[in-house]
Amino acid sequence: MAVPLLDLKAQYASLKEEIDAAVAGVAESQYFINGPQVTTFQEEIAAWIGVDHAIGCASGSDALMLALWALDLKPGDEVITTPFTFFATAGAISRLGGVPVFVDIEPDTFNIDPDAIAAAITPRTVGLLPVHIFGVCADMDRINAIAREHGLWVVEDAAQAIGATWNGEQAGTLGDAAAFSFFPSKNLGAWGDGGLVTTPRADLATTVSRLRSHGNHPRKYHHAIIGCNSRLDALQAAILRVKLPHLAAWNAERRAALVRYQRLVQEAGLADRVTFQTVPDQAEPIVHQCVVRLPRRDDALEFLKTRGIGCAVYYPLALHRQACYADLGYAEGSLPIAEAATAQVVGLPIYPELTEDQQVEVVGALAEFLGA
Ligand SMILES: *Cc1c(COP(=O)(O)O)cnc(C)c1O
Repeated sequence: MAVPLLDLKAQYASLKEEIDAAVAGVAESQYFINGPQVTTFQEEIAAWIGVDHAIGCASGSDALMLALWALDLKPGDEVITTPFTFFATAGAISRLGGVPVFVDIEPDTFNIDPDAIAAAITPRTVGLLPVHIFGVCADMDRINAIAREHGLWVVEDAAQAIGATWNGEQAGTLGDAAAFSFFPSKNLGAWGDGGLVTTPRADLATTVSRLRSHGNHPRKYHHAIIGCNSRLDALQAAILRVKLPHLAAWNAERRAALVRYQRLVQEAGLADRVTFQTVPDQAEPIVHQCVVRLPRRDDALEFLKTRGIGCAVYYPLALHRQACYADLGYAEGSLPIAEAATAQVVGLPIYPELTEDQQVEVVGALAEFLGA
């Protein structure tokens, strides 16, 4: 039995009538940009996350950029972030002329290492951009303590972490602002691109809303500041409104699937060779990806593919080693824990509808490869 990495068709099948009706509603209204669907979605998702302000925008990448822009990131400013993430995290800093300062990660959680943050602060540091990687929150107690001590802002890259908590508080409420993505494969996925900025700060909410429509203020066609065009489509908002009430259950199903993987790996006697991402006590994950370390990773990947198991490497090249950042001067081996992770990790199939039979198949293929 082939097991796909992700199966979006299963989710659509379960909500087809409601989603099709929502799409038809937008077609009837012919209201495509902002408007009542977007306003209502923003209210509903702000309440769901437990944050005062939520502003829709065109993508998770833009959400990051808008948050940094509203915090007045200027050319030459340094922002400390992780190299073990999707490119958009660092790209947002660079698009505004800022300088990403990459520091190493913790080997067990794959999240940014707070000790490494503290060691990298310079007089040019203005903020911290942790990522809640694969749906496990970074150590926000220590990150916020460092930020307070040095007068820095904190933006959470929560693109993979909608519904994840730290000390019971949701991602998106833990810093000055946060960015979410509704890319179709994310835990809450749209039918295209979409993103969201959340913030507990009214001043930032106002600035982000203006920046996403060309700095329109105080009225249309009057511009006190320069912004860009980055809005959430009404069509996406309408679809996301159908899905949001199911998100908590989907996240719980992903957690249950992770627990099943861990049990099956244990039962197969593979626990010493298949190592899961560690979840700190303060964190409840949403299992956006199920990333494990494996011996002989590249051979394992090839083998799993021949057995019809969908798998992917998140991430094969750390950001400090990307060609576009060569001028920042990070040598090979400069961030050894992140670099080791890029050579050892594999993401296994994970989605709410994944069945135990499918997981038995995945773990069976792992056992076959590892000769257990
Ligand atoms: C998906 C993702 C983004 C970007 O989101 P888009 O909506 O694709 O622009 C940013 N950061 C991380 C960690 C992501 O996984």
